[in-house]
Amino acid sequence: MFRAVTVFCGSRHGHDPRYAAAARELGVALVRRGITLVWGAGRVGLMGEVADAVLAAGGHVRGVIPDFLRTEELLHPGIAPGDLAVTETLFERKRLLIESADAFVVLPGGLGTLDELFEVVTLRQLRRPAGPCGLLNVAGYFDPLLAQLERSVSEGFVDRAHVDALLVEADGERLLAALEARAAAGSP
Ligand code: AMP
Repeated sequence: MFRAVTVFCGSRHGHDPRYAAAARELGVALVRRGITLVWGAGRVGLMGEVADAVLAAGGHVRGVIPDFLRTEELLHPGIAPGDLAVTETLFERKRLLIESADAFVVLPGGLGTLDELFEVVTLRQLRRPAGPCGLLNVAGYFDPLLAQLERSVSEGFVDRAHVDALLVEADGERLLAALEARAAAGSP
């Protein structure tokens, strides 16, 4: 039922090969469901892995990249010219990535990925964007972050509903199914 899902993930591979494997499996799962991948248009790290997997499976990708990162993050060669948006700033890229999707998936990544995750989560707290957001918790990568969020709830800084709204799965196929079920139920 989703037309497009934005995937936020690392511009590096990380040490554990399970991160790249999960990124590729997510790419295949998106194609199986007929979902367009929207992502940061790079061919480095997990960003490249998920896009390569979607393209190899015959799927569709749309990318958004700031002009100054075209060389650093190596613009992915598989994007059709009409499916690439070039922005001036990282901020503008993030805005477009968020506005272009029915739902969001966050894979392991670094500071950029965490920034994107919190942008979506904090915007959703204010009810925009409406799409659900899920963490692909590969090899327990996000466990410490989830523990911090629990602490933020128990210490009275965050409403439990905003943490519970974040779907968490270790498998891409299951995460997409959970996100679609959440969207179909019309819950935030
Ligand atoms: P990282 O998780 O640090 O490997 O970065 C993942 C993606 O986030 C890359 O495409 C970065 O260009 C992007 N990124 C890094 N910093 C920011 C930021 N402040 N705002 C938006 N995107 C960022």
